Amino acid sequence: MSILKFEKINKTYANGQEAVKNADLTIGSGEFMVLVGPSGCGKSTMLRMVAGLEDITSGSLTFADVLWNDLEPKKRNVGMVFQNYALYPHLTVAENLAFPLSVGKVKKDVIKSKVAEIAEMIGLTEYLDRKPKQLSGGQRQRVALGRAIIRKPNLFLFDEPLSNLDAKLRVHMRNEIKKLHEKFQVTSLYVT
Ligand code: ADP
Repeated sequence: MSILKFEKINKTYANGQEAVKNADLTIGSGEFMVLVGPSGCGKSTMLRMVAGLEDITSGSLTFADVLWNDLEPKKRNVGMVFQNYALYPHLTVAENLAFPLSVGKVKKDVIKSKVAEIAEMIGLTEYLDRKPKQLSGGQRQRVALGRAIIRKPNLFLFDEPLSNLDAKLRVHMRNEIKKLHEKFQVTSLYVT
């Protein structure tokens, strides 16, 4: 069953730059779709339109048959992982993981047990009280992954999440992402 659909999508930035032209793409429910291409070909723009971080100039973007073109980003329940982790430096690992839940109306004890569950899964139970600067690059990226899954998103978006890691860690994290996908079967769009 197809779930995420780009139909004749165009994106022209305010300066006239045509970043995406007439893009058609259908992604199946639970599928892991990878966009590969040279720098500047429009991959990040595609991802950012799905997240609602960029306007769509024309065409239609639908998720489960709901038009997403003008839907507020926070209503999309999308989990995003970027190359620069985007963790909150002043918050601990536990607080970073809890963040997507604490802005909603989830009860404290529920948050605590979810954080424990996710920390276990990403292998960071021992690190819950540390700040991001006290972690390695791979551990930070695992926190970013954990934070993206804690809300059980409709969709995962990955924007070159491994490019800041060394070769060995990259292989390791690629496997972690694969395992997460096998476990949760969340529809995913990955740019590299
Ligand atoms: P990729 O992710 O494939 O490297 P991008 O989607 O980042 O490509 O960029 C596609 C094109 O749009 C590039 O030519 C880039 O310079 C341009 N672009 C990206 N962001 C902006 C912006 N905010 N304003 C104007 N042009 C942009």
